[in-house]
Amino acid sequence: MAAIFAFRCSCCGELHEGAPSIGFDAPHHYAGLNETERETLATLGSDLCTIDHDEGRDHFVRACLEIPIHGHGDPFIWGVWISLSAENFTRYQELPDPPPPGESYFGWFSNRLPGYPETLNLKTRVRPRGDNLRPWVELEPIDHLLSHDAQEGLTVARAQALAEPALHPD
Ligand SMILES: [Zn+2]
Repeated sequence: MAAIFAFRCSCCGELHEGAPSIGFDAPHHYAGLNETERETLATLGSDLCTIDHDEGRDHFVRACLEIPIHGHGDPFIWGVWISLSAENFTRYQELPDPPPPGESYFGWFSNRLPGYPETLNLKTRVRPRGDNLRPWVELEPIDHLLSHDAQEGLTVARAQALAEPALHPD
């Protein structure tokens, strides 16, 4: 049986148990809006977000990027936002449960992950999985550290190094 992931945190000194799961409450684009803009231009829920701008409207869904941790059964999970086309955003919300086999959409990665080079606008594929679970997101296999990690998995030391600043921002 795979060991439970746990580490003594060099930030807070506590033992953090369980594979890290680090989520963003909103797309990066939302964080850049002031309070008035948030009220007038954006809608933000736990799983869906839209933001109006000069050229139209952006549509975001929250998804799970799961990265295996070597020697552990549970993955490192990033809860991130992905920008979909208007058409796919609507289709996603109207999906039956379970979704049709092979259902997936192109999307743009819409958060900046600490510990990585720029991750905004990486190309992804979003795969709905039904059962009230957030969809999986897969990165296009390109020469980027995040794409590499998603393919190869993380060492325990690297998972810890990524988790600590994300668990303790500032
Ligand atoms: Zn800590």
